[in-house]
Amino acid sequence: MRIETSKIPRGESDSVFEVTPEELELDREDVRIPEPLAASVHFSRLDREIVARGRLSGKVILICSRCLKPFEYRIDESFSFVIELASTAPSAVRLGDEDIVQVSSYGAVVEIKNELRDLVILSIPMMPVCSKDCRGTAPGKWEIHTDERR
Ligand SMILES: [Zn+2]
Repeated sequence: MRIETSKIPRGESDSVFEVTPEELELDREDVRIPEPLAASVHFSRLDREIVARGRLSGKVILICSRCLKPFEYRIDESFSFVIELASTAPSAVRLGDEDIVQVSSYGAVVEIKNELRDLVILSIPMMPVCSKDCRGTAPGKWEIHTDERR
């Protein structure tokens, strides 16, 4: 998940790549990534800046907070960042908390791994539920009786 600015042409361009679970280094027991996620980024390159708008999608395996069983959950998140080109900036940077990085205008590598990992984590619900009908670990116990007459 490294973006090489020298490979981004002036004007508009697109880049499509896969993000493997190993690359993402998502070290969480409650979130598993069974297959690579799909990422696509659209670049708009001007003289001194590159605007990137991307999308990350795919499936993750979560643990249901009610029945504690694993289930498939689809993520589809958008992200964006700006690469500013400056002659005195470093040639290798990591996209961090800020969505703007300054890199060397002579060519640079921008690592966006942290950005994508945060995106996956933020897309996951706090209390994931496998289905809205999930009755939890003890079926019957939590059954909700609705009043049909209302
Ligand atoms: Zn469940």
